[in-house]
Amino acid sequence: MYPKLLIYLDRIRENAGAVVSRCKARGISVAGVTKGICGHPSVAQVMLEAGCKWVADSRLKNIQLMREAGVKGPFMLLRIPMACEIDCAVDLASATLVSTVEAIELLERSCVAKRKSHGVIVMIDVGDLREGILPCEVEGIGKSLKGCRWVTPLGVGTNVGCYGGVLPSPDNIGELVQVGHDLEGLLGYKLEFFSGGSTSSLRLLEKGELPEDVNQLRIGEAILLGRDVTHRQVIPYLRQDTMMFEAQVIEVRSKPSAPKGELGADAFGNAPKWVDRGVRKRAIIAAGRQDVRPEGLFPTGKGISVIGASSDHLLLDVEEATFSVRWGDALSFYMDYGCMLAAATSQYVEKVIVQ
Ligand SMILES: *Cc1c(COP(=O)(O)O)cnc(C)c1O
Repeated sequence: MYPKLLIYLDRIRENAGAVVSRCKARGISVAGVTKGICGHPSVAQVMLEAGCKWVADSRLKNIQLMREAGVKGPFMLLRIPMACEIDCAVDLASATLVSTVEAIELLERSCVAKRKSHGVIVMIDVGDLREGILPCEVEGIGKSLKGCRWVTPLGVGTNVGCYGGVLPSPDNIGELVQVGHDLEGLLGYKLEFFSGGSTSSLRLLEKGELPEDVNQLRIGEAILLGRDVTHRQVIPYLRQDTMMFEAQVIEVRSKPSAPKGELGADAFGNAPKWVDRGVRKRAIIAAGRQDVRPEGLFPTGKGISVIGASSDHLLLDVEEATFSVRWGDALSFYMDYGCMLAAATSQYVEKVIVQ
């Protein structure tokens, strides 16, 4: 049944292999990030087979799903944990990102009770202003980690390009490395990982500008879609045809391009602006904001454009389509990261693995 999200496993494998080998050449290991595809076990498996050393996801539910499907891991919990998920994190993951003394103490308590060790990577905020300690707080975190017996500090990490849109640079990633060395000084031993960011850090790697000591990257978007949204680019050495969204046409009709009647807000509270382009041939497909992010949907058919969407209807201008669009046809689209995330999350979208 439509709508469908087609997942081309071999193409994702190719991307993962290409990312892993480029990183390996610089002494960097890759944690494959599965959250964009809701922890699909087949995708995680392909990442591991292609040489990723970790499977990393922001949701414990996804990690649980992958474990139940037989994915071996090791698993890293990417979002700093909620108090209520600490116990599950120790059960399900081998490592967790942390940025607070509270989380470290609860993790330690849980580890003691389970007699089980658990790795932590301390997140350092170098300017993007999402999660992470400020560099001046390293002493407090170091002290807390020194008091742990079962919680094992594995390294430091940073996140850029997520909230503030700050791009990775030799300066800010260099700051991560510096704080990591400060933490090593406080702990009295070397850390295993300097985790220097995500897909957006690949650009620095390519330019040879990633600071020496960085030895891990956590990569999702590049592997899943061959894209880098923070730099607004496709990554030339990777494939973008890894996933496809398909939905079925439920109406084709020529209609005026500007609505008639008094105008209020649309179904989402926005006041749409119209350009009157006269009567145009349009198609409606059976998918909407509950399934996709229409702004991130790119029709594969030439001459087709997305003109709007409500919860369950997506409107296309097909006036200039190079083929005839008919009732009952399935149309296909490429997606950006946000759209993939929506399609993967929607229970109405059937996920289809294509080998
Ligand atoms: C999502 C996420 C990543 C992966 O980001 P991509 O841009 O998809 O490569 C890495 N680290 C953290 C902490 C994340 O939340």
